[in-house]
Amino acid sequence: MKTLRIVELIKSDAVDCDVTVKGWVRTKRGNKNVAFIALNDGSCVASIQVVVELAKFDDETMRQIATGACIRVDGRLVKSPGEGQGVEVQASSIEIYGTADPATYPLQKKGHSLEFLRDIAYLRPRTNTFGAVLRIRHAMAFAIHKFFNDRGFYYWNSPLITASDCEGAGAMFQVTTLDLNNPPRTEDGRIDYSQDFFGKPCNLTVSGQLEGELGALSLGRIYTFGPTFRAENSNTPRHLSEFWMIEPEMAFYELEDNMELAEEFLKYLIGYALENCREDLEFMCKMWDKELIERLEFVLHNDFKRLDYTEGIEILKVSGRKFEFPCDWGCDLQSEHERYLVEEHFKRPVILVNYPKEIKAFYMKQNDDGRTVRAMDVLFPKIGEIIGGSEREADYGKLCARIKELNMNERELWWYLDTRRWGSAPHSGFGLGFERLLLFVTGMGNIRDVIPFPRTPQHAEF
Ligand code: ATP
Ligand code: MG
Ligand code: MG
Ligand code: MG
Repeated sequence: MKTLRIVELIKSDAVDCDVTVKGWVRTKRGNKNVAFIALNDGSCVASIQVVVELAKFDDETMRQIATGACIRVDGRLVKSPGEGQGVEVQASSIEIYGTADPATYPLQKKGHSLEFLRDIAYLRPRTNTFGAVLRIRHAMAFAIHKFFNDRGFYYWNSPLITASDCEGAGAMFQVTTLDLNNPPRTEDGRIDYSQDFFGKPCNLTVSGQLEGELGALSLGRIYTFGPTFRAENSNTPRHLSEFWMIEPEMAFYELEDNMELAEEFLKYLIGYALENCREDLEFMCKMWDKELIERLEFVLHNDFKRLDYTEGIEILKVSGRKFEFPCDWGCDLQSEHERYLVEEHFKRPVILVNYPKEIKAFYMKQNDDGRTVRAMDVLFPKIGEIIGGSEREADYGKLCARIKELNMNERELWWYLDTRRWGSAPHSGFGLGFERLLLFVTGMGNIRDVIPFPRTPQHAEF
């Protein structure tokens, strides 16, 4: 007998054959003669109906088949007489793999709030919502690799443990094997990191970009896709302490090429989801966000608006809108500003370019005006910033001067500067936050709900 996943079974025309199904009981109902079990195996939103004639099974087995239990059913696949159900399984034998005591099992058949489910994050993948979100997450990860592979990019792995804190993208998590309650000290009383595991202070990476640039300046086009860590104490619905980032980096790309790639990439991923995750998207649409599919279609089929930061600020200043944080030229945009530009002013995604150099990182290519850099942020409805990127400063002299200006430690960046000393080339890249993409594609409102195990301040247990 063939074991099929439920997603395959419910689409099968091969009725009147013997099948085996395995999965978790969602509900059990019935009367004194028959029980109807909804069985789900995580392969799709739908559960398959298992019909059990009680006369054929003992009471103890039937008692153990409760919400949450994992069972195997052998039986016959038949056309279901019930309305709206394609097929069902008439059970001939049932094996119980694992019971679940209804008195303690936290997932009951009534729906639960997202807040409640966050407290049992290790169990929530068994719900329809998280099943859908996590299948979409998988599909997007696959599509990311496919997009780049099809375009001649190489998958590149930047290190997760780094000895430099130069990016300035966010506070870092320190990695140490020293006993910090009683650390070795130097003569002048500072912690003696020469005795630490790596011989110097180390951190978890906040971005794979700087090392990714080395990849671009040797393999031509690369992309990273890995976890990044930021100890930012920002309890927002868009920030995690551990999130995944996709960072393509391309030699011989200028800012315009970078923008084009970013737009093509985002549209590809949205198109891929619409084509390959239809049922899960329809479920999300029905449950959480009525306009989801419409919004995805809109972004897929409309050009992104490209705009200078300076023009963006002018629009915000004359908007007449009372923002929580007032903004003027030189300020870093908050998500309320970004969303105003996207959702109310242009009514489409925006790529904002040429930011003031003071609010952007040292490595961005400087414009001739002396005050802006060739940075780009892609701003999305509901999300705000989804991508941050730039053309990189390729000129050794200008890069050194900027590092001095910012009082950064040039010695720590020796390896990075060497890429500009020998065979430097124009190049560009960007970072897409994977979970921000998923917020947009799934329609969920909180970034904690698009990753299996969210890491946020005070929360790292499961
Ligand atoms: P923000 O302004 O929203 O804090 P950022 O400018 O600090 O983002 P970048 O350093 O530009 O972020 O990182 C590139 C991308 O990574 C961002 O555009 C965003 O999609 C994502 N990202 C940044 N920080 C986080 C975070 N804490 N959690 C999830 N995604 C993040
Ligand atoms: Mg940030
Ligand atoms: Mg930002
Ligand atoms: Mg940014």
